Amino acid sequence: MAEIIDGKKIATEIKDELKIEIEGLKRSGITPGLATILVGENPASQVYVRNKTSACQNIGIYSEQHTLSSKIKEGELLELINELNKKPNIDGILVQLPLPSGIEEKKVLSAISPDKDVDGFHYHNVGRFFCEKSYSEMKREELFLPCTPFGIMEMLLRSQVKIEGSEAVVLGRSNIVGKPIAMLLLSANATVTICHSKTSNLKGVTSRADILVAAIGIPCFVKKDMVKQGAVVIDVGINRMNEGIVGDVDFAPVNEVCRAITPVPGGVGPMTITMLLVNTTTSAKRRLKMKNEKLSTIFNF
Ligand code: NAD
Repeated sequence: MAEIIDGKKIATEIKDELKIEIEGLKRSGITPGLATILVGENPASQVYVRNKTSACQNIGIYSEQHTLSSKIKEGELLELINELNKKPNIDGILVQLPLPSGIEEKKVLSAISPDKDVDGFHYHNVGRFFCEKSYSEMKREELFLPCTPFGIMEMLLRSQVKIEGSEAVVLGRSNIVGKPIAMLLLSANATVTICHSKTSNLKGVTSRADILVAAIGIPCFVKKDMVKQGAVVIDVGINRMNEGIVGDVDFAPVNEVCRAITPVPGGVGPMTITMLLVNTTTSAKRRLKMKNEKLSTIFNF
């Protein structure tokens, strides 16, 4: 049986570390603040936003939720984002995706100030992390990394999975998971292959992986015969079925061959929310730094 990489436990460790940072920020007069925007009545999105809001409350981050009708005009949404960009007590802005048809996702995401883009989807932030040489540099620079890939990296590192020199295969090439996790694994010195719906000989490729990341959105797609003995398997998939939520990996049989595996639920999901809290706190730390710099200019310290 494989080791279960417990996302909930790792997320709790990170949140405990964050609580200390947030207490410190509050003592300096800064409360981190997150604004979430939900457009429409997508039930899954409602759950995600609710979970994010309560995660903020549990850790001492101020949060405000803006719920808008699906009939809203793109211009009104852009106006709200613009207002939130200017609000000094808001360090992060999150627009829950997907957006209703008629609203251009790219336009909306690039309206968020790169300094408040805690989801890490703005072109500016994507460009920054693509240009950084190593994962440790990205951490040192405290870049806004996209939350799910960032969470996967922290899970691997905190579970002592050796990334450097490994062969990593990513299933899926979306902008929010597949492409960025491939870049992050590369920046930690893995040799990375990205597979997608047009990849031929998929099984041949996945069977080489020391680290296999599945992010395609097809329930139980990754079968035992697609996984190398001793591989580490990260299941990003969230598929809502009658029997509950299942991942993209056929968990029980794959568990027999791999060395370590993330469960669904309780794996990548809790890490994604936690990295949103990390990015929001990082943004608040930048606010404090700017405040201190301003004060030192005024008083000529
Ligand atoms: P997406 O639909 O944007 O992308 C899916 C990708 O899978 C595409 O690149 C496509 O080429 C690839 N694909 C589809 N069929 C394939 C096949 N037969 N063989 C190989 N590749 C195939 O999805 P996404 O937004 O990246 O999300 C993927 C899954 O991860 C979904 O289940 C989503 O709900 C889940 N997700 C989970 C979290 C989390 O926090 N756990 C966060 C984001 C997404």
